[in-house]
Amino acid sequence: MPRRPAPGASVGAGALLQLLRDGTPRTRSELSAITGLARSTVTGRVDALLASGLIAPTGETASTGGRPPATFAFNPAARIVLGADLGATHARLAVTDLAGNVLAAATADLDIALGPKAVLDWTVEHGLALLTEAGRPVGDLLGVGIGLPGPVEHDTGRAVNPPIMPGWDGFDVPSYVRERIPVPVMVDNDVNIMALGEHFTAWREHEHLLFIKAATGIGCGIIVGGQVYRGAQGAAGDMGHIRVAGADDVHCRCGNTGCLEAVASGAAIAKRLTDQGIRAGGSLDVVELARSGSVPALRLVRQAGRDIGEVLAGAVNFFNPSIIVIGGSLALAGDHLIAGVREVIYQRSLPLATRHLRIAAARTGEGSGAIGAGVMVIEHALDPARLDASTDFKTNG
Ligand SMILES: [Zn+2]
Repeated sequence: MPRRPAPGASVGAGALLQLLRDGTPRTRSELSAITGLARSTVTGRVDALLASGLIAPTGETASTGGRPPATFAFNPAARIVLGADLGATHARLAVTDLAGNVLAAATADLDIALGPKAVLDWTVEHGLALLTEAGRPVGDLLGVGIGLPGPVEHDTGRAVNPPIMPGWDGFDVPSYVRERIPVPVMVDNDVNIMALGEHFTAWREHEHLLFIKAATGIGCGIIVGGQVYRGAQGAAGDMGHIRVAGADDVHCRCGNTGCLEAVASGAAIAKRLTDQGIRAGGSLDVVELARSGSVPALRLVRQAGRDIGEVLAGAVNFFNPSIIVIGGSLALAGDHLIAGVREVIYQRSLPLATRHLRIAAARTGEGSGAIGAGVMVIEHALDPARLDASTDFKTNG
């Protein structure tokens, strides 16, 4: 997220680029004034960034006389990323530029249970085809980001005991993909990449965001200071197995009782509807019933919102987000889910934490995961410290 360097912070080419990532064209003088760097230092760093293509001249500003000063701006077209959102039964791919603009995208039915080799072979083959469609060579590719529908150890890119992904446990996803596309490969769980995509696309002014994916399961992506917060083991945000009061008789697949996911997920609602004699196979059937005005479905969706709100109310007190974004297939059921969430959070959370809190529906739609997977790579590669350490920028002391 573009942001001004803190006073006294070392301002390398990476920090200068970060400043320019807001897209505003600036002159060398303006960059010097903002950063406190000498003009000569700014010139050296601007030259290095120009050589990398990450910034480009944008013409000249109006001047009262003499030669007008040149301006420079971030050049998102300089490189591209490939993002893959691999769900339980669907795969979505997107090639974007460095500003998250989608240049080419694809969606297909793909069963994650086919195992890592088959699924990743498909991803590589169709990802490369998308590069061709976008008219960009592999040499322009900054990296590949992949989201998986289960717990992921982010540092190593391996899935850890994923319940719905036979054959994936411990599989080295980055190495397998890198052997086929020789670029950095990063992996995270599907909720975190959706949170990133949603934040980057629609809510960048919010530094502290909770993204809720309410679908077959329930998970939460946490954005702190504009970046994903993963916790010590990558398990942060796994809210589906937090206990809901008064649901002790409901058994969860994790072995406990009363888990949020066992009470309020799309799968749980579908089961309750079926128990009442209304046929519902899963989350999407629940959505369809709710949209067609089925009163039992609407009631259960609203109650699911309240149950999610109950767990979130505690998180709001702990974390004090400025926005909670509700996404996932169950959110497509209309206002009822979000109304239930609002009802409980505003009632239960501390007034100071809710005074300016926004609770909103996701805006980015089904493409948010694939875009977010790419954003994960962009933020990693353009991180100021990492950029300054790279050989292209080391000379500008
Ligand atoms: Zn559970």
